[in-house]
Formats: sequence, structure tokens, C-alpha cells
Amino acid sequence: MSFSALVKNEMCRIQNEDKCCALCEISAILRLGASFRREENGFFTTSISTENAALARRIITDAVRLFDFHPSIAAEKRKKLRGHTVYIAELKGTFATGIALGDMGFMEIGKEGNPLFSDINEIAGGECCNRAYLRGAFLAAGSISAPDKGYHLEITSAYPGEIDRVRSAMESFGIKAKATARKNHYICYIKESEGIADFLNLTGAHKSLLDFENIRVLKDVRNNINRAVNFETANLNKTVNASIRQCDDIGLIERYIGFGNLSKDLRAIAEARLENPEMSLDELGKLLDPPLGKSGVSHRLERLHRMAEGVRGRESGT
Ligand SMILES: [Zn+2]
Repeated sequence: MSFSALVKNEMCRIQNEDKCCALCEISAILRLGASFRREENGFFTTSISTENAALARRIITDAVRLFDFHPSIAAEKRKKLRGHTVYIAELKGTFATGIALGDMGFMEIGKEGNPLFSDINEIAGGECCNRAYLRGAFLAAGSISAPDKGYHLEITSAYPGEIDRVRSAMESFGIKAKATARKNHYICYIKESEGIADFLNLTGAHKSLLDFENIRVLKDVRNNINRAVNFETANLNKTVNASIRQCDDIGLIERYIGFGNLSKDLRAIAEARLENPEMSLDELGKLLDPPLGKSGVSHRLERLHRMAEGVRGRESGT
């Protein structure tokens, strides 16, 4: 089962204690997932299709609980969706269902065939309802990537107005969401793992949030290890490159000046470096008698470098 389906199944098990929240949730499902057809009597028949059986059950129970309607339900196998079953809940257009749709914020079908809804705040009772609204929006039109694949949560709609409302509802909880258009769809999405975690938390998907966080922590640990390994590699390269330059200097000094003409200290470090080109300055210092710290080693190698530069100057001068 996909992570999206796991999250939705968990959301469908959440009880909306207050009727205001149940109303906002089903309103969101309607806003983002329903299609409307005007009947000859002038009222709208509404249908919502979903692949998620738990969501289909939730729509029916909520309709019964809130409005005392029992939507008809049909199951279809769709070839397009690789033979997946699609559930279609339908509410026939009557005077009574017209009132119920009005309670959910439905107003009219616009000129371009798009359903027009009132602002969600006109039916929302408070913060609890905004949470329920976002949960409904995700149930009807949301998806989330499995956290081991990447961080992405999105809610899509054919209508930009509702996507704006989804976005501002997210922002009212401090979640940074972006909106964009893809072909003929509008999308509100969250890319930051932090924001996705907040979304799962505020919509009540706590078990999914735990799974999400566990994988997120594992991923962060792995990233930190990679970063440390990269850092080590970079350091190693620095050591190797420096050592190549130092061995160049020392080779030049050996040829043009001779180790016999170096002070005891400089000769010791020159020989140690030539014999151990792979060692760090720390390790090199420990080979000396008496041992020398990193900065002492660096200082002596610097003196050898200046000496070699002198040789280079003389050689190119003649
Ligand atoms: Zn509420």
C-alpha cells in the first residue's frame, strides 16, 4: 500500500467530535473531489469518486450523520486505472440536498462549468475546522511521497480558487506552501519535511507522522555520515596535494643543496616526509625525536619551501 493510502486510511479513522468539523471536512471533500450535474428540476446531483474504500465509507456515514441522507454508492472497475476499483458516491439533486449543499458552502456552477463555493471561513467554527478542512482536502485530492523517496505533499484541483484556500489554510498554521499550475490542474504543495510533518500532525495523522519522522531521522543520519565521509575525502585530498608539493621541494633541495648542508632539524623533517608522503603533519611530527606538534612541522616545511623557492629563483635566473 502506498504511503498516501496509509495516511488517508488513518485520517478516515479519526472521529470528528464536533459537527462543525465534520461539516468542514466533507465540504472540503466536495470542493476538491466532487462533480456537479444540473437536473431538470434545477437542483444539482453531486458525485464523488474515489479509489479509497475507507473514504467512500466516511462520505456516506458523514452524509447520514450530518444531513440524514444516504448517498447511493456504486463500484466500478476502471481499465484506465489498471483494473482498480473506483467507488462513486452520488447524491441526487432535490430541494433537500440543495439545502445540504448550501450548508457545505456550495453556491452555483460558474460560467466555465466550475463549481463556486463560499469562503471556508463562512462555515468554519474555528481552528478545529481549518484542520478538518485540510484533512478533507487531502482525502479528496491529496498525495504524499513515501519519506524514503523524497519530501513532497500536494493537493490538486481543476479550480484555482480552492487551491488558494487550501494554501492560506496551510499558512494559517505556519506551513510554507507553494502553489503552481500543471497542465489544466492547480496544485498546492509542500516540499520541506518540516512542513509535511506539521501537516500530518495538525490533520491528526499521528501514526503516519511517527513513520514519517522515523524515516526522516534515518535519512538525516545517513546524510550526516555522507557529509562526514565527503569532508574526510576533501581533507585527504588536501593532505595528498600538500605532500606532493613538499616532496617536490625536498627533492629539489636534495639535488641542489644536499641534505648534508641542512640543519639537523630540517634534515629530519625532510627525510621523514620523503619516506612517508601519505602521512598528515600530525603523524609526521610523531615520527620525530623529540616529537613535534603540527604547527612545528608546518613551520619547518615552510622553511624548506622557501629554500626550494630560492633554488627555483636561481635556476630560472641563469
Ligand atoms: Zn470545528
